[in-house]
Amino acid sequence: MIIKKTDAHIEIMRRAGKVVGDTLKMLEKEIRPGISTEDLDKLAEDFILSSGARPAFKGYRGFPATACISIDEEVVHGIPGRRILTEGQIVSVDLGAIVDGFYGDAAETFPVGEISVEKRKLLEVTRRSLEVGIEQVCPGNRLGMVSSAIQKVAEEAGYSVVRELTGHGIGKTMHEDPLVPNYGSPEEGPILERGFVIAIEPMVNMGTYQVVTKPDGWTIVTADGKPSAHFEHTVAVTDKGHDILTL
Ligand code: MG
Repeated sequence: MIIKKTDAHIEIMRRAGKVVGDTLKMLEKEIRPGISTEDLDKLAEDFILSSGARPAFKGYRGFPATACISIDEEVVHGIPGRRILTEGQIVSVDLGAIVDGFYGDAAETFPVGEISVEKRKLLEVTRRSLEVGIEQVCPGNRLGMVSSAIQKVAEEAGYSVVRELTGHGIGKTMHEDPLVPNYGSPEEGPILERGFVIAIEPMVNMGTYQVVTKPDGWTIVTADGKPSAHFEHTVAVTDKGHDILTL
């Protein structure tokens, strides 16, 4: 069942979303060779708490940190630790915050110093796939129009989209109906209505779409070891179009 949000709910979600967006902007300035992923996680946690919000991921199904931090072939759900970032890596940061009982969720993949042309293109295409997905969000469109737009951009660039993980509805819980796949037919899925709020989050792989879970039980990596990128926004359906809540 898809839970519709009132305008008042959406304004609270915008506050949660702004904390997430501001945290990602802060982290972008800190991401450089030599910093550890647990240092980045600490910065994120302090920033979220000092903004009057709570980290949404910490303790979620036992996840031990504020941010999911995933490097290169790690797709999502990487656990922050002592690992030090090095020049040429790409690092995906996925963050959630809770304000007055409502969730915001967003992610971005950042370059660490100078990166290869190939990785830069992967980041640009994944960001673009999220943008074209969001452009399809308006009342009356099917959710599949969002999914297929994302898939088209990624696959036309020669990449693949992860199938096993999807975006999701979001509200008073982090994961609600509907699932928001990053692939599929425009004729599939529910028709979007004003008040739906969804987290759209393409995960785009340079090689195969297949992924595996590492022995830590959390970290998802590409099956072929090639890099992956992840961009996400929380988006509300408005009366005429959409409203990105995690800017
Ligand atoms: Mg999400």
